[in-house]
Amino acid sequence: MSRNRGRDTGPEVLLRKALWKLGLRYRLGFKLPGRPDLVFPGARLVVFVDGCFWHSCPEHRVMPKNNAGFWARKLVRTTERDAAIEQELSQAGWRVIRLWEHEIHSNAVGAAERVAAAVRVSG
Ligand SMILES: [Zn+2]
Repeated sequence: MSRNRGRDTGPEVLLRKALWKLGLRYRLGFKLPGRPDLVFPGARLVVFVDGCFWHSCPEHRVMPKNNAGFWARKLVRTTERDAAIEQELSQAGWRVIRLWEHEIHSNAVGAAERVAAAVRVSG
């Protein structure tokens, strides 16, 4: 449930390892709106790994019972910010892939193959 987009959280590391095995090379820490977790500059593609709690995954979202109003507003703001960032990136010519942390935990290779397919589309 860590809030920060640390560079070495579990699902990100799993995804990076799977991408590496597929021979994909990405950039980290690229300065773009929303600080995407992975960037493929040549393919104009960015990847976000979204935590199920913070980004309100439809399968795993849970509303904390304490301070429910606070949390509801906070999580809605996060979702709205995600949408705004995505729009900003796409207006700047970037394609955006969002992966849930649960997708990566259950099938990191499948998630990596989705990214690989998108990278290939752009040649
Ligand atoms: Zn989830």
